Amino acid sequence: MGKLQPIQRACCVCHRVQQGEGWVRPAMVPEHTTLITHTYCPECFHRALARLHPPATPPRPAALVLACG
Ligand SMILES: [Zn+2]
Repeated sequence: MGKLQPIQRACCVCHRVQQGEGWVRPAMVPEHTTLITHTYCPECFHRALARLHPPATPPRPAALVLACG
């Protein structure tokens, strides 16, 4: 078996790749990197989470009427 290839993590939303502690544009990926796994970068992760769990909004007046009727 050959030497294991490093696995590069790439954001599935903004397509930046993880480099050490930060996330950079794909043009800065070292050339020897061939394996890529997709994930969320911290910013896109928080955006996706906010979409899945939006802040609670009060019910609309029409919904209240239906619920009481
Ligand atoms: Zn991202």
